Order: sequence, then structure tokens, then C-alpha cells
Amino acid sequence: MSEAALDQSAEGPIRSIVIVGGGTAGWMSAAYLARKLRHLPIAITVVDSAQIGTVGVGEATVPAIRDFLAAVELKDVDVLRETEGTVKLGIRFVDWARPGHQFLHPFGLYGVPARGVAFHHYWLKLLAAGDALPLSDYCLCTQLAENGLFLAPPDRPTSDLGIFDFALHFDASRFAAMLKRLSLANGVRHIDGVIEQVAQDPERGDVTSVALADGNRIEGDLWIDCSGFRGLLIAGALETPFLDWRHWLPCDRAVAIGCREAQPHKPVTTAAAREAGWQWHIPLQHRIGNGYVYCSDHIGDDEAEAALRSRLEGDPVSAANRLRFTAGHRAETWHRNVVAIGLSAGFLEPLESTSITLIQSGLERFVQLFPDRSCDPRLAATYNRQSTLEFERIRDFLLLHYLGNARIGEPFWDRMRGMALPDTLQAKLDAWRARGEFVRYEWESFQNPSWLSLYAGFGDLPRRYSPLADQFTEAELRDTFARMRAAIAGTVKLGVPHRSILA
Ligand code: FAD
Repeated sequence: MSEAALDQSAEGPIRSIVIVGGGTAGWMSAAYLARKLRHLPIAITVVDSAQIGTVGVGEATVPAIRDFLAAVELKDVDVLRETEGTVKLGIRFVDWARPGHQFLHPFGLYGVPARGVAFHHYWLKLLAAGDALPLSDYCLCTQLAENGLFLAPPDRPTSDLGIFDFALHFDASRFAAMLKRLSLANGVRHIDGVIEQVAQDPERGDVTSVALADGNRIEGDLWIDCSGFRGLLIAGALETPFLDWRHWLPCDRAVAIGCREAQPHKPVTTAAAREAGWQWHIPLQHRIGNGYVYCSDHIGDDEAEAALRSRLEGDPVSAANRLRFTAGHRAETWHRNVVAIGLSAGFLEPLESTSITLIQSGLERFVQLFPDRSCDPRLAATYNRQSTLEFERIRDFLLLHYLGNARIGEPFWDRMRGMALPDTLQAKLDAWRARGEFVRYEWESFQNPSWLSLYAGFGDLPRRYSPLADQFTEAELRDTFARMRAAIAGTVKLGVPHRSILA
């Protein structure tokens, strides 16, 4: 390309980024940007306020967190040690389909495909023939988790049976503190102060500076809004509309209490269905994180807290932290020279631990589309389109957890079972139920095995399996399936108790 064809902006490159907020989102942003932009002369500042504090929750992750840790050059084992963390192989859903029933959503594959046909079609064929061994028997990750064991996933698995991954549970405040130390060591400046005013360019509307309560003024070319549910810049200054999804995901409150551990725990997050929502249980080394996510139309705050307290397995070690939220997201998470990352961008209930992963993917996308000072709106349009799709995909996956419940006669659960679904989800359900097909859209956070675990967990099975599954006889399949189970059982024997890994 000739020099004349280049169209560099006359306004020049970004020289300063200000991150507003020092919660998980703020310090993840600081650590990531300091690393990715380290060869550019860009000053990064974090402004937060110890007076205002953070939400203080957010302790379960998905396996993608380990890519983030690698990107900022942290080792999993150091994070586990410094945050009193534990390993997570999946999420166990208790009492969702009906009281007394449970299943696991593992971070791993089921069985082995053959002759171009996905494993679940063969499994359905045997099921139709009366062979009712559960799908989870063909998942190494589930078997490790259910036995309280852990193994590092192999770098080069010899078959699909060996493919699984793991995530982490951690103490959110220790994780943010660890990222803060890393960011400061990499040149990020930190200012503690309450932002009282936001100044904007009178013509373009770009944010130009913020004024602190102590009289200081901070200027910046580009702003990352990590101010939590407040959305100080994206909502407060720029007035970007919020797309409210309460009609789909009506849970709008949570109460969180840490407690002592009464027994050693399996490497899983547990989500147990309750009268007006669900309760999380996140094992850490020094305590258990517990929380009740509920819908305020169906239970009062005091009643929810009392219900949570009555179900703690050990003595409480913290005061109750009551939180309010609305499911949904900003129509534009990047607007002018402000990018919202974290709770300021949107929130979907933490049933599949997706908020931290959304922080991560937002940062990755933002660096891919990194602007100059003109902040070309086309970059923001691309960012916003992808961000919206990501929220919608996760929303659909969360809805799947509710609609198949058989908790008949419980008002919250009846409401969730009867709701009108987004077209995108309805199309997926139709294809699955008709012929066991997975419909995949762009920007899916959850892959086919995750959907399969939920469908099977709720007993929502297709009317027929693929005719291509008839490439093997039932006898051949029984034999192969027995060998798969034996191979899994052999590998499970190599697993190490979760406790000893941590020690
Ligand atoms: P916050 O933690 O609220 O931080 C906001 C920051 O902005 C603070 O530092 C504050 O000081 C600063 N600030 C605000 N206003 C001003 C001002 N005027 N001046 C200066 N500074 C200001 N996510 C997961 O991935 N897994 C989970 O298991 C999970 N569980 C959750 C459970 C619940 C009930 C909730 C509500 C959320 C959960 N999340 C979870 C989400 C997760 O907690 C958040 O994504 C994460 O903590 C990031 O929050 P944040 O940094 O955006 O906001």
C-alpha cells in the first residue's frame, strides 16, 4: 500500500487511558491493558474510591479465566495460593429439574464421535433400545468431579474422552488485590478519590475529564467505565440506554454470606434451586461462599436472608451482603470514547459464572479494535454488535436452566416454566427436540457439550436420533460404550483428591 493511501487520523494516537473503578473489572482491565499496550507510550490510571467500595462478590469462573491469567502472565497455581482459591470442574445443579434430582454441567466432552456422527446420537440409540446408562458415565470431567478428584487436563489427549478443562474459584477481593499489585508493578497509576463530576467535550460529547471530591481533576483520551452498576460514565454522563431483560430473567436481588467449611468439598460450584430463585455454594480454602439469588416478586429480603442462614453448613464468617440488580445490558457498551467493562456494561445472574468472562472478552475485543483519538464509531459499532450477541447467547443458555423445571405449584418456578422464549432459543430447542441437532450462532460462550449437559440434565431429549447412528449395530455400540466407560474409570484412578492438590 502506498503511503498516500494510509488514512491515519489527524487527531493522533491515544496517550492516556483512565479506568474508573477498582473492583474486579477495574483491576482486570488495568492488568490486561498494561500488558497488551506495554510497547506504546500510553499512561494508564485507575481511579476508585475506598469509601464507595466494590460489590465484593464474583468468586466462580469458567475455564476461559486461565487464558486471561496467561495473558497477564500469572500462573494458575499462584492465583490459587494467593486468593485461597480452589479448582472448578463444573457446576452441579441440585433440585432444578425437580426436588431430589441433580446433575453436573462439566467443563468436558461426552464420549467419542464416530463416522462423522456426534456421540449423543449413539447414546440416544442405545437409550431407545433400553440401555439407560446415564450420559455422565461417558464424561471424564464429570466422573473426576463427582469423585472429588482432579487431574491436570492432558496437553495432547489421545481421544475426545480425555478432553476437559478447569476453572477457578477465588476470593474476589484477594483476586482484585493481586491484579492491583501486578498492575502497579507494570506502571499503572492509582488514585483513590470520589468522582463527583464528569466533563464532556461540548461538541462531540466525549468524556474529557473527571473532578474528584478533593478538587483534583483527571484528564484522559479514552475511558474505561468499571464503576459497577452505577455506570458513572456510560449511563450517568453519556446516558446510554439499558436493555432491561427482567421479563426473561426476573431474579433481581441476592444476599451473600461466607461461612466456615464443615466438610471437604468437591471441585464444583453448586447451584441449588430454592423457593424463589437459587442458592450458590462456592468452596474456597478458608471459607465457603454462599448466596441466595432471588426474585423480589416472590420473597422478601429478610425472608431470603433467613432462608440462606438456615441453610449454611457452617458458622457465618461475614455479615450479610445484600445486592440489587437488573438483568440486561447497555445497548451500546462502547459509546464515544467510553467503553463499559464489568457490571457497568450489563449483568446476567451468576448462574453460569459469566460476568468475569464477559469482562475478559470485552477487554480482548477492545484491544483488537483499539482506536486512535478519533474513536471511529465504526469500531464501536463492531464492538457493540459482538457484545450484544454475547449477552444474548448467555441469556438464552441461562433461560434453558429454568424452562425445563418440574417444580409444579411453586409460583416462581411456574412463572419460569411458562415464559415466552426469545426466537433464538426457541429455534435451538426446536432443532434439538426434532432431531438432536445443535444450532450454533456467532459469539456463543457455551459450546455443544454444555447444551447437551443441560438438555440431558433436564431429561429434555430429542424425538429421534440421527439415522446415521445406524452405521453401528446396538451390539457394537454396547461394546464400544463399555470400553469408553472402562477407559474413563482407568483415568479416574489417576485423579488426586481436590484437597491434596490444594495442599
Ligand atoms: P464493582 O465491584 O461494583 O466496582 C465498582 C468500582 O467503581 C469500585 O472500585 C468503586 O469504588 C468504583 N466507583 C464507583 N463509583 C465511583 C465514584 N463516584 N468515584 C470513584 N470510584 C467509584 N461474576 C462471576 O464471574 N462469577 C460469579 O460467581 C459471580 N457472582 C456474582 C453474584 C452476584 C450476586 C453479583 C451481583 C455479581 C456476581 N458476579 C459474578 C459478577 C461480579 O461480581 C462482577 O462482574 C465483578 O465483581 C466486577 O464488578 P465491577 O468491578 O464491574 O464493579
